[in-house]
Amino acid sequence: MKCDDFLPAIENGGPLRKWRARSHAAQCARCAAVREGWLETRRQWANPAATTTHQRQLWASAVPSERPVTSSGVWSARRWAFAAAASVLIVVGLSASLWRPSPEVAEVAPPPAPALNVAELEQAKLGGDSSFEVIEQALNQLEVELEVLALDAALLDARSEVELLLTTYKPLSVSQVSN
Ligand SMILES: [Zn+2]
Repeated sequence: MKCDDFLPAIENGGPLRKWRARSHAAQCARCAAVREGWLETRRQWANPAATTTHQRQLWASAVPSERPVTSSGVWSARRWAFAAAASVLIVVGLSASLWRPSPEVAEVAPPPAPALNVAELEQAKLGGDSSFEVIEQALNQLEVELEVLALDAALLDARSEVELLLTTYKPLSVSQVSN
């Protein structure tokens, strides 16, 4: 074995190459010294010295204290908040109007009943000439109805918030103000 092949053989070689490298180091003082130095370096890397105060200060000064908020981050957060609020509004409105009609719902003017022509829809199912128009019309009516429901939900939300505020913070009477 040549001296140049010693370190790769003792580190990455198979059992036979390692054995040959060890027997080479037993006869070659230079490779034995290289092996000792390499083992010492590995021991040092395995047990690194504790970080000094100066090193810690250097690290802390290099790391930015706060991540800068980019405008795109702000906008995406606002977009997410708006989307979440809109979806909550729609879900609350649909559930309040469809499945839990409260007395307050009765006060809200009911949306105009969709004038779906059942006969036309049946014809559309059978594949008449105006089938697409009828389906499109039905979809438009459904869209209008959903918009009305969303408005109702917004109104219900606003009312319940006002009622909550009034029960939490009762309006001051004239006698309370004068005291
Ligand atoms: Zn050697």
